[in-house]
Formats: sequence, structure tokens, C-alpha cells
Amino acid sequence: MDFDKIVDLINNLPYCPFCNTEPVTKTNWDENERPKIMVSCSDEECPAGQIWVPVEKWSTRPLEDALQKKLDIAIDLLDELSHWDMLWLGEGEPSLVADGPFWKEQINKTLKKLRV
Ligand SMILES: [Zn+2]
Repeated sequence: MDFDKIVDLINNLPYCPFCNTEPVTKTNWDENERPKIMVSCSDEECPAGQIWVPVEKWSTRPLEDALQKKLDIAIDLLDELSHWDMLWLGEGEPSLVADGPFWKEQINKTLKKLRV
């Protein structure tokens, strides 16, 4: 991994996945005397505070990334719907129509919660 990427990871370290505490770093040296940045949770009571992992591994959060993608899709959909004046709910013959200010207010409230 190149130096700039490592610096970027260090400057944007996510909090501990277990307790949401700020992480700590240290530098180890490999057999070729190249620095290897290691990360741990700063809370020694936390399971992640008992181990040190390479910064690349600490910064990899596949479940969070997958959830964020789904959240982004939901936000985009609601944002699109917030521009509609009316929504027909149900298949075939619409069984319910959501319209106007109430509909938009509900969507905008939901969007506000999702964009925290
Ligand atoms: Zn922790």
C-alpha cells in the first residue's frame, strides 16, 4: 500500500467497531525495516483493546459499507419521492393515495432522521 493511502487511512480512522471509542496507533517495523501502522481500541476493557491490527484491516468495514450503500439507496428514493405531488399505493387499482403536504412532510421528516 502506498504512503499516501496509509496517511489517508490514519487521518480517517473509524472508531472502534465494538464500543465506538477512538482508536490508538503504534508503529511496528517489518523484517525489511519498513513501518507497519497498527491500530487498537483505546479502551483496554474492550475486546478490540486487547489486540493490534494493521491499519488497513482496522479501516475495512464491509458490513458498515454495505449498510451505508443500502441507506444511500433509501435516501435517494425518498428524496426522489419528496418531489412527487401524489403517490398511488397498491397494485392495479390504487388502494390508497398519499397526497400533498402531509405526504411531503412525512418524507422530509424521515429524510431528516436518515441524514443524521
Ligand atoms: Zn473498543
